[in-house]
Amino acid sequence: MGGRGYVNPEWKAKAESVSGGSRISSNPTAVWIDRIAAIEGTAGSSSNGPMGVEDHLLEAVRQGVSYIQFVIYNLPGRDCAALASNGELGPTELDRYKTAYIDPIAAYQNDARFRSLRIINIIEIDSLPNLITNVAGRPTETAMCNTMKSNNNYVNGVGYALAKLGAIPNVYNYIDAGHHGWIGWDDNFGPTADLLATAARAQGSNIANVTGFITNTANYSALQEPYITVNDQTRQSAWIDWNRYNDELSFAQAFRSRLIQAGFPSSIGMLIDTSRNGWGGSARPTGPVTTGDLNAQINGSRIDRRIHKGNWCNQSGAGLGERPRTAPASGIDAYVWVKPPGESDGSSTEIPNTEGKGFDRMCDPTYGGNARNGNSMSGALSGAPISGAWFPAQVTQLMQNAYPPL
Ligand code: BGC
Repeated sequence: MGGRGYVNPEWKAKAESVSGGSRISSNPTAVWIDRIAAIEGTAGSSSNGPMGVEDHLLEAVRQGVSYIQFVIYNLPGRDCAALASNGELGPTELDRYKTAYIDPIAAYQNDARFRSLRIINIIEIDSLPNLITNVAGRPTETAMCNTMKSNNNYVNGVGYALAKLGAIPNVYNYIDAGHHGWIGWDDNFGPTADLLATAARAQGSNIANVTGFITNTANYSALQEPYITVNDQTRQSAWIDWNRYNDELSFAQAFRSRLIQAGFPSSIGMLIDTSRNGWGGSARPTGPVTTGDLNAQINGSRIDRRIHKGNWCNQSGAGLGERPRTAPASGIDAYVWVKPPGESDGSSTEIPNTEGKGFDRMCDPTYGGNARNGNSMSGALSGAPISGAWFPAQVTQLMQNAYPPL
């Protein structure tokens, strides 16, 4: 992923509409193809503007950049464990996903005019991990995740996308692998890697269609926790809760090894979405806390200031993380900004819309939680618009709490 990355002019304009936004607006961010209409451009929808896939590719050539990042995000029955990013396709609409969504995207990406670009596809956020953790037998099961597991349409959709897009010589596919505060527990870690390998071989695909994996997409997990060591004692804290990992870098590196064990080649690389995991600002600890009981020590020492690691919506106190850069650590292809900072994760109150976006109470600051976040407060900012829509107060806070600072 070396060289200059594509700067999405639509996000850039939004960033520059906020005071101080020009400090960040020239960073490459991913273009989310979050519905069929976004392929041709959707003036007036919450997250995308008039530019479609072809427009972005043409603009990338004009910018003279070496790579452009797209998010492929429209599976049937999308977002089965949450409501804020429910999609337009019903659980059985696999054929429509193939012919009306993946095929036209592949046609643009395969166009000879764009052969000089490296086209990075981030494949289907949250989908496959949900089939491990939010299904029957788990206290966190949901009816929709059970449906998507039994009809196999997530696995088949991902397999089809990989096969079709992976056949294009200048396309590089990275599949979403959740984050450490989701997949880092023993019960989830190996089974998720094995499921990713199954999906990579579905619908005529093979593992060669996969360049690597991405962790922490649109999440807030810290890249590193400089003041905490994970060991048999600290794993007993409420914050770590027996997880093997306490940050994204160690998780991504270890998960890469497990993926290789599951059958992927040792050439695979990891991406980490660092757009909103900086946790700087005045609340950031400057060293370990060594007094009080274990929970007091861990809570005082951690830079991730969330109430619970299961919290995912518009987190209060978050900051921009590492700016996008290539080969930052062993096994890591790049730190990337996939979630465009300032685009909401979901509305804090119910907002009627025509995009299929639901109201998830994890985005409501007054909500006391559920099994997926240890029945904790949501930690969400108030006043948020629907997912994908521009949320100026959030980007202002993200800039304020950036780490490294701006
Ligand atoms: C939304 C998409 C949006 C994306 C990037 C997702 O949560 O559902 O509509 O494009 O975030 O902001």
